[in-house]
Amino acid sequence: MIISKKINELVTKYHENKLSHAFLLVTNDINKCNKDIVEFIKEISCLNKYQDACQDCNLCYQIENDVIPNIKKIYPDGQQIKKNQILELKEQFKTKPLYISNNIYIINNAEKLNGAAANTMLKFLEEPENNILGFFVTTNKEAMLETIKSRCQIIYNPYDNEDITEILNLTDQQLKEFTTTAKEYLFKLINKTENGIYLNKKCILSVFMERERIINFFNYLYWQISEVINKTNQNDLEILKNIPFAKLLKIQKAIFNVLESSSFNVNIELLLDNFALEMEEL
Ligand SMILES: [Zn+2]
Repeated sequence: MIISKKINELVTKYHENKLSHAFLLVTNDINKCNKDIVEFIKEISCLNKYQDACQDCNLCYQIENDVIPNIKKIYPDGQQIKKNQILELKEQFKTKPLYISNNIYIINNAEKLNGAAANTMLKFLEEPENNILGFFVTTNKEAMLETIKSRCQIIYNPYDNEDITEILNLTDQQLKEFTTTAKEYLFKLINKTENGIYLNKKCILSVFMERERIINFFNYLYWQISEVINKTNQNDLEILKNIPFAKLLKIQKAIFNVLESSSFNVNIELLLDNFALEMEEL
């Protein structure tokens, strides 16, 4: 079972043929994240209509036990991920995938890619082939090389619910600001008391200014809404608790769309306006 909702969404994207070719997963738990990626690979590969703990199919067994040559996991060799590790990966991926539909690499502690390794990596990212899929997993996004970061779709993937502030690097003051803004913004959007495009200008664009903060704000919203959906009662946005479940899922999906598109350099105001329109249609 995929625990992470965000990795779960990737399965849908895969089946819709809308999956990016490289992801940067920012997480607080590398192991859990790896387990979820493995579940993801099973979900998209299983010949047996994957079910939890699929016992029947040989492929799931092989994926689970890490014996498929089309899946390569890389960990730091000492303090760094070195060039020869990436060269080896490239060599291995020269052949088309045989057992599953993609060649898939997972680079753990990706912030430890040294300069030479990262340069070697870039070719994969710049000339994406249809059948190569990459996951960079890191607990420290700030330490990631910009050249890699800018070529990946960034997904914040926290496991311990209370760690969202840590993962987004929020100060208490910023968290307070997010909460206050979220209350007004969501309340008015959901109840349609004010025009969404106007709300974007008033509550978001003129308050947060920078693209990165706006995206962080949407990550915060995503987390809040997931808390309600998962019934962990950790969230502090009362207004979300009275919304029917089906509608919550739609709002969550709309927020996810903002986060996903934000990694493709789309104009942020346009993204927000699309979000407002999606919300109006709910
Ligand atoms: Zn299976």
